[in-house]
Amino acid sequence: MVPGYGMAVAQAQHVVKELGDILQKSGVDVKYAIHPVAGRMPGHMNVLLAEAQVPYDQLWEMDKINPLFPETDVAIVVGANDVTNPAARTNTSSPLYGMPILDVDKAKTVVFIKRTAGPGFAGVDNELFYLPNTMMVFGDAKKVLSELVALLRK
Ligand code: NAP
Repeated sequence: MVPGYGMAVAQAQHVVKELGDILQKSGVDVKYAIHPVAGRMPGHMNVLLAEAQVPYDQLWEMDKINPLFPETDVAIVVGANDVTNPAARTNTSSPLYGMPILDVDKAKTVVFIKRTAGPGFAGVDNELFYLPNTMMVFGDAKKVLSELVALLRK
């Protein structure tokens, strides 16, 4: 699970945790990837996920989680954008160039939950949206995840 500013906007932290719990109970190893500047204030994601009572040992800081993405089956990106943008590694003209990112592009499949293909805070496109192993699920994060949880509970 890769939360970002859109999770805060949608107030989707509780349903993110609900999905995490369902997956964990089904035998999936669930981890939450925390980028230090995800959201709009330091510690934003930690505060929201703590409020939703995500167990502390499921919260993984960027430096610890990044080596694990190549062995990750699915990265579910919930309203994060800039903190996943590979342009930060490669595009010297990008305003994001040089910012450490979460290496979600190295996961086998990436699911982006956001409302549009529009940009985040930095105002730049994210090439990840167009890669073959990326699935875009457009909609408000809380609504999309609530629907998914309802389906999984059936
Ligand atoms: P981001 O790059 O700003 O992207 C957030 C994404 O959330 C947007 O692209 C937006 O896409 C989506 N979104 C908004 N409302 C949503 C909703 N209701 N449901 C689903 N998605 C929604 O966020 P980030 O990846 O967390 O990166 C943080 C950015 O803020 C970085 O550029 C960082 O430098 C900057 N920043 C951080 C801090 C801090 O202290 N954490 C302070 C100032 C600036 P749609 O519009 O398509 O839905």
